[in-house]
Formats: sequence, C-alpha cells, structure tokens
Amino acid sequence: MKTKNTNKIALIGTGFVGSSFAFAMLNQGVAHELVMIDLNKEKADGDARDLNHGLAFASPMKIHAGDYSDCHDADIVVITAGANQQPGETRLDLVEKNVKIFKNIVESVMDSGFNGIFLVATNPVDILTYATWKFSGLPKEKVIGSGTILDTARLRYLVGEKFEIDTRNIHAYIMGEHGDTEFPVWSHTTIGASQLSGIVNLEEKTTQDELEDIFVNVRDAAYHIIERKGATYYGIAMGLVRITKAILHNENSILTISALLEGEYGQDDIYIGVPAIINRDGVRNIVELPLNEKEQKQFKHSAETLKAVMKKAL
Ligand code: NAD
Repeated sequence: MKTKNTNKIALIGTGFVGSSFAFAMLNQGVAHELVMIDLNKEKADGDARDLNHGLAFASPMKIHAGDYSDCHDADIVVITAGANQQPGETRLDLVEKNVKIFKNIVESVMDSGFNGIFLVATNPVDILTYATWKFSGLPKEKVIGSGTILDTARLRYLVGEKFEIDTRNIHAYIMGEHGDTEFPVWSHTTIGASQLSGIVNLEEKTTQDELEDIFVNVRDAAYHIIERKGATYYGIAMGLVRITKAILHNENSILTISALLEGEYGQDDIYIGVPAIINRDGVRNIVELPLNEKEQKQFKHSAETLKAVMKKAL
C-alpha cells in the first residue's frame, strides 16, 4: 500500500476560532494541506484566499475551501463549527443547538470515508466530543476534545505573572469540565522543578486567597473577554495547533484535553478534561494524578454536572 507522506487537516467552521486556527497553522507551518469547510461557503473561500496571500511569508502549504468529500484522506478533522456563547450565556446553554449541528457534521465527515482523528473545540466541548465519538463510531483514542487546554494555558500564564517566571516553566493543570465546574490541581503544580508547596505555604490564608483569585480569573476568563470583544479565539486557536502538532509529530506530549474515561479517576462513560499523552494515534493514555481529597470531590462534582446535562441532550 502506498503511504502518504503529507499531512492534511480539514477544518469545519471558519468563524472566529476556525479562521484563527487556520492563521496559526499557516504561521507555524504544521501541515501540508488545510481544507476549510463552512456552511457559509463564501466565508471559507474568502478565508482561504486571504491566507494564501501569506504563503510568500510562510512555509509551503496548500490552503483551499472545500466540502465534506475532502475529509476522506484527512489526518485530522478539526471542528470549530456551531453557535458560540453570547454575553451571560454559559457553555452548557449551547448544548441543544450544537448537538443537532454535530449529528449532521459528523455523519457527513464519516460518509466521506474518513478514518483519521477528530479534534473538537465547539462548546460545550466535553459533551460535543462525546457526541462525536458516538456519532462517528471511531475508537475513543481517535476522538479528542480541546478540553481544558486553554484553561490550563490561562492558569500557567497567571501563575507565571505572579511569580515572574516564564509561563513555559509553569507546570499546572486545570481539570474537569471546560466550564464553570473546572478546578485547579494545586497539589501537582510545579515551577521549574520545584513543587508549589515548597515555594509558598498552601495552608496559609493569604496564599489560599491569592491562589483562589488566580483560579477565579481563569474560570471566568471567557466571560471577561466576551464582555469586552464578543468572543475568545486566539488562545484556543493556538491550543488547537498545539494538539495538532502533538498528533502529527508523534510527540507523546502531556496535554490537558477531553478524553473518554473508562474507570480512570473513578469515572466511566464521560469525556472530560484530564492530562493525557498525545501522539500520532491520538490519546495514548490518560495520566492519572493522585488528587487530594478536595480535588477528588471537585472532579466528581464536575463529572456529575456534565453527566446531568449529557443525559438530557444525548
Ligand atoms: P463563530 O460564530 O464565529 O463561527 C462558527 C462558524 O460555524 C460560522 O462560520 C458558521 O457559519 C459555522 N457553522 C455553523 N453551523 C455549521 C454547520 N452545520 N456546518 C458547517 N459550519 C457551520 O463562532 P466562534 O467564535 O468561532 O466559536 C465557535 C465555537 O468554538 C463555539 O461553540 C465556541 O463556544 C467555541 N469555543 C471553544 C473554545 C474552547 O476552549 N474549546 C474557546 C472559544 C470558543
């Protein structure tokens, strides 16, 4: 059998998030081909034309608008299509509209003969990733949600600001729902090689208040941005490129994404944000951190919240 030596990404949804992802893909030279698909064909075509004009300043890449039949030989289908949060709306409020949209999208992708990896960012991302897994019939390893990758990046940025250390040296995770019940895993936060608990006294009230402020800023970041500019897209676009790279370059990177749990963290039959090892096969395995009692309770609460919404929607 002839093996293909180029990487192809199909992007479904070329709105704020999708077009920012395309722009970041072009700038980082991650794939050889990007096909852009949207209900609004004119928008997808306009974006592809605009991006092609950047090729003189980037690495060679084939970028074009297309349709679902173009997904058949894609390595990854990235889905950023659907309704987004309006001011005051939670991510879970979007579930009904977006599950309907996803049934059509995922079935159309599968009808093309697609056998690659799905990467989902549309909200509520954990539930829509579960829906993609169900609708596609693909193995769980090949269906990934962006989960808490963005929230984790926000946390790393704010902790880096507080300690005046490069964000890239902050190792910290937000786990759980990408939404209001997510939580920070302070018990496994390190700055460089030092445990946070060795740098500050986690039992001290002032420290606890400061860390809580950081977390609240992470949790509510999307609301703050949506109030100011209507949508969030650059951060998640770069997070999606990060996951895409980990897959295409077979990186075995640990990223917080939404993966299917089958007993890990005491949960079953749910997609939720957890650290996982990502490589060319998708999710190699889930990293099970020994959470402390408070974190275990927070994880359980987050999973139960998602399950209650999922029960009604699917
Ligand atoms: P947007 O409205 O700018 O873009 C959505 C696009 O989807 C539009 O171009 C629309 O034409 C297209 N679309 C709608 N239905 C479609 C269908 N059936 N088939 C093909 N295309 C279709 O929205 P946005 O700001 O880009 O946000 C997209 C999604 O990403 C939202 O659900 C938003 O909540 C989510 N989001 C997720 C994260 C995250 O961390 N996971 C972060 C930011 C936004």
